Amino acid sequence: MAEGRVCLITGASRGIGRATALALHAAGWRLALAARGEEALAALAADIGGADHLVIPCDVTREAEVAAAVAEAVRRFGGLDALVCAAGVGSFAPTVDSTTADWDAQIGANLTGTYLACREALKVMLPRRAGHLVTILSVASTVAFPASAAYCASKWGAYGLTKVLAEEVRREGVRVTAVLPGSTDTPFWDAISGGPPREDMLPAARVADAVVYALEAPPDVSVDEIAVMPPKGIL
Ligand code: NAP
Repeated sequence: MAEGRVCLITGASRGIGRATALALHAAGWRLALAARGEEALAALAADIGGADHLVIPCDVTREAEVAAAVAEAVRRFGGLDALVCAAGVGSFAPTVDSTTADWDAQIGANLTGTYLACREALKVMLPRRAGHLVTILSVASTVAFPASAAYCASKWGAYGLTKVLAEEVRREGVRVTAVLPGSTDTPFWDAISGGPPREDMLPAARVADAVVYALEAPPDVSVDEIAVMPPKGIL
């Protein structure tokens, strides 16, 4: 149990980020909950007892908003023990039919957003020689899926980013964990037609369990990477 430790979660309003917020709340963490949609964040904070948690409207593609989110969390809680990067988007089409707007949205949220959040968190963690970054990546970080060029590019990129960060900071007291989920039953799939059967997907809570496992690991181990898949594998 990590009574009172502080975690900033991006993408906290839905899906894996929300499930992670619920799990970390249950484990006694204080949370800074970030996403673009303030209403859903406020509802989540109210559900889990808002007084201990902070709601931060933030678009992870916007540098100033990410820096402000980290600063606000530190101001409120006096420090930042962990960052979970769960903000992300996906849209799927054959490359020839895809748009630059869809490309930019996915590279922006999934790759640049992860970079910005990790960078700003490290500015707080490295001087204290303590902290933990968790990036929510994907099975699509290491496997090529057709009709997923931007999504795979963003996730392979974020996987590379995570591995570089781990090597940069592992001797500076900061741990880095890559979490690679397979298909997970979240609102991510609501607008995607022809996706895998929802009933075969992982519950978001199982991904959250992996995050909690990594964050609560004893200080004498670094959980570098966790792949969590539905029992049927790639769907
Ligand atoms: P989700 O249910 O759609 O939730 C996405 C979250 O990200 C929401 O809280 C959303 O809130 C936030 N978000 C999106 N763009 C953002 C931005 N620019 N700035 C700040 N927040 C932003 O999706 P999910 O399934 O939980 O996915 C979470 C992460 O897991 C993503 O990186 C996704 O690629 C990854 N993943 C998902 C699956 C899956 O099968 N579901 C599998 C592997 C990996 P707002 O819209 O309010 O900003």
